[in-house]
Amino acid sequence: MLIAVILSALAMTVIVAIRYLATSGGFALATRAKYPGLYRGLDAQMRREVVWSLASAAIYGVPAGVLAWGWREHGWTRVYSDVHDYPLWYLPVSVLIYLILHDTWFYWTHRWMHRPRPFKLAHALHHASRPPTAWAAMAFHPIEAISGAVAIPLLVLAIPIHVAALGLVLTIMTVMGVTNHMGWEMFPRFMWRGALGDWLITASHHQRHHERYGCNYGLYFRFWDRVCGTDEGLGDFARDHARAARRAGGGADAGGGGRPGRAA
Ligand SMILES: [Zn+2]
Ligand SMILES: [Zn+2]
Repeated sequence: MLIAVILSALAMTVIVAIRYLATSGGFALATRAKYPGLYRGLDAQMRREVVWSLASAAIYGVPAGVLAWGWREHGWTRVYSDVHDYPLWYLPVSVLIYLILHDTWFYWTHRWMHRPRPFKLAHALHHASRPPTAWAAMAFHPIEAISGAVAIPLLVLAIPIHVAALGLVLTIMTVMGVTNHMGWEMFPRFMWRGALGDWLITASHHQRHHERYGCNYGLYFRFWDRVCGTDEGLGDFARDHARAARRAGGGADAGGGGRPGRAA
């Protein structure tokens, strides 16, 4: 039995690591194509981001692997595989509930992590990436990785979700974790500007967190930042992009599609 649990934990760690390498690698390649030179001179930082992210993969993978084993063997967790166990309308609702609760957990733990002691002890590592790259998605100190690793396992123990809906939640989590750090805005303008953009978090919003630190703590939604008065609008990629264009040989496209203005 112990062997099966260990194998499940190992397998999940490998899956999380490969998911990270594939997603971050893919968006790093896209960055190189769209903004050549944006990551130039950041090789040592990116190596550090990869090492810490792979360490986080183990911290995320072990509890997830143990739970996956318990689910298969003993029916732990509220994850269901027959889509008719709950009404169909519950599928999108469950995804939304998971995203809202995960966002809430992230906002408050992240905000706490910016208090002087936990910042110095743990969260400073994430902010050592200046500017962050697509590889920084899971670059967290182990203490911070543990606080992130318990969120989804606690949710699957408490709130029913179809296995495919859970897959969608994990995909959104992974893609947003990477794209929020990659240094440019890939989403269409309506997602980060205007009525919808007022409530959604994309790269422009998290960019400002990495510029100013004491604001924009959320993960998916701007709800808590707005309610608590910590929302300081969108960051600005123009300077980084202009520098990248100069480094790449004087390309004319300094800002490109997705340069947010100041909205603070
Ligand atoms: Zn960040
Ligand atoms: Zn932070």
